[in-house]
Amino acid sequence: MRKGLIVFILSLIFALQANSYELILPADKKSIVNSDYAFFVGKALGSESVTINDEGVYIAPNGAFAHSVKLKDGENRIMVRSNYCTKIYKVYKNTVLNKEFPIEEFDTKRALVNFDNTPLRKTPVDAGLNRIGHLFAGTHLLLDGSKGDFYRVFLSKNKTAWIAKKDVTFDDSEITEPAKFLNMNTKSFKNASVQTISFTKKLPYTVEDTDKEIIFRVYNPEYSAESVYNLNIPKQEKYMYSVMLNDNGEYTFKVRQLPDNIKDCTIVIDAGHGGEELGAIGCLGDEEKTINLKIAQELASILSNAGANVVMTRECDCNLSLNDRVNIAKENGADIFVSVHLNSIGNVKMNVHKNRGTSVFYFNKNSEMLAKSIERSLSSQIGTRKDGVKGASFAVIRPSEYVAVLVEAAYMTNPLDSVLYTKPTFAKEAAAGIAKGIINYISKK
Ligand SMILES: [Zn+2]
Repeated sequence: MRKGLIVFILSLIFALQANSYELILPADKKSIVNSDYAFFVGKALGSESVTINDEGVYIAPNGAFAHSVKLKDGENRIMVRSNYCTKIYKVYKNTVLNKEFPIEEFDTKRALVNFDNTPLRKTPVDAGLNRIGHLFAGTHLLLDGSKGDFYRVFLSKNKTAWIAKKDVTFDDSEITEPAKFLNMNTKSFKNASVQTISFTKKLPYTVEDTDKEIIFRVYNPEYSAESVYNLNIPKQEKYMYSVMLNDNGEYTFKVRQLPDNIKDCTIVIDAGHGGEELGAIGCLGDEEKTINLKIAQELASILSNAGANVVMTRECDCNLSLNDRVNIAKENGADIFVSVHLNSIGNVKMNVHKNRGTSVFYFNKNSEMLAKSIERSLSSQIGTRKDGVKGASFAVIRPSEYVAVLVEAAYMTNPLDSVLYTKPTFAKEAAAGIAKGIINYISKK
């Protein structure tokens, strides 16, 4: 009899536990975090109220919730409690020490760039918006210092830059003649201008995008510390540019205008993530990659119907590297590239009313106007907060050969946004908002 009662009570407890909130994040009861906050995301039952370390948690009408907890150094015990169940999470906060390396100066050494598309940076940091050019394999450099994982590149009397140590090899060949300037050429077409400049060796360059023109600079520091060649190419309001360097040492800088009719535009649509890469996981346990693909498909059909030549980077739930996505865009001669995503926040302080909405990212200045246009039309179409147009160094939007943006339609980890993006009409509406932004941008005089 007593045994039966115990079984009954135990099964009652089990039933109550099963019918209670579920946590999506943290994924494990024990976790390690390298920041000041731990992030809790999940879904509760309709009748449930949840507290985390005795602080009340906002729960959206669909049960979604998200909450951040400030951490102290070392182990933190965090109690997640509802009227049905209590769970204890242990989060260990790691303190990350940023070691500062001194600059070490040395006599100039010659080196060669190992790979194409190697970033040349303003600062010795592998992050952020500090790139001033992307060098080609075999480019001849002079190095005159180091700091941490970077070498300092001597470009001219007034200009140095930084390159990752792993991206160069010291050039121990016999001292050869410095590069010689051969010739320079300008050609103008209806929608493009092309400048070429030729040397006897591959030399480093930088690019500066100013209000009216793009300035490419080629440096020949072995010849003299003041040997800098400026190529100023005027630009239109909607433009893109490419840089090529052939094996003889001839640069071709091309600035071209975006077609002003959508029927002449090739638009590459990139559904973010896919396959094993799920993207962000929402409060309700839904996967970003699936929603991205639905939006991308709807967007493709709207833009094709409007007459654009549309290419999709993926049409299935499959793996695709960032490089694959960039190559698809380049091979298809993209004019516009749009990567479709939903956002999430990391382990930062969460504000339900602030960490939500639509944001659009761009890398090159030529893409800022499209980013603004999409943010405006998308947030008004789906009713999200405007979370901003921001610069970011994401690999898929770094190429300057096309106008490129990365759209974060809403936040997967925001309970209020989760009510929006789980609507059955969401993908269609988000696509309509993005399409409107693109079309307005192309047709703007
Ligand atoms: Zn994403």
